Amino acid sequence: MAGKGLLLVVSAPSGAGKTTLCHLLIQRLGFRFSVSHTTRSPRPGEVHGRDYYFVSRHEFEDLIRQGAFLEWAEVHGHLYGTSKTEVERALSGEEDLLLDIDVQGASQVRRKLRERAVFVFVAPPSMEELERRLRHRGTESEEVLRRRLARAREEMQFAPWFDYVVINQEIEQAFADLAAIVRAEKCRPQRALS
Ligand code: 5GP
Repeated sequence: MAGKGLLLVVSAPSGAGKTTLCHLLIQRLGFRFSVSHTTRSPRPGEVHGRDYYFVSRHEFEDLIRQGAFLEWAEVHGHLYGTSKTEVERALSGEEDLLLDIDVQGASQVRRKLRERAVFVFVAPPSMEELERRLRHRGTESEEVLRRRLARAREEMQFAPWFDYVVINQEIEQAFADLAAIVRAEKCRPQRALS
């Protein structure tokens, strides 16, 4: 039996509002956040061991060689990966775990844990709205913005492979959809009867 715990994998193009939704899953539904390893530098306010394990490319490549990762991928020129130890407790069904990873990582987890994990794609209402949100954020140059939009279009192609798609038009409505998914998944026999 799988146990009651849920392993929830959430992916989205940047600007779709995934970060906010993930915070709500943690605050309101008690999910634990799976802390990934990354080779990118910490942003202001980010804490090693809470947001990410910040490591050098050399350390990351060592971990790959050791087979430490459940999945890993290169995103925006940096390496990101989920270590096997992060997901162990969730796999034994002891906790609800949230993996905030990109679509490449999600498809690797899907190949390995098809029956165990639940895959949710968070989508913007439209590409025009996504562009408006990214521009509104105003943190990126025109070139970076164009690259992000091109990548978002590519990532949208993965949406049909997920178990669920949540369209984030309005954050509370999108969270209600996510909460409904979690509730229904908890009623599956392998979780409800364990
Ligand atoms: P950021 O650098 O903005 O925190 O994250 C950039 C992207 O990398 C996001 O789409 C995020 O979901 C993804 N990401 C974060 N951790 C992992 C991971 O462990 N594996 C993969 N494949 N992607 C990750």
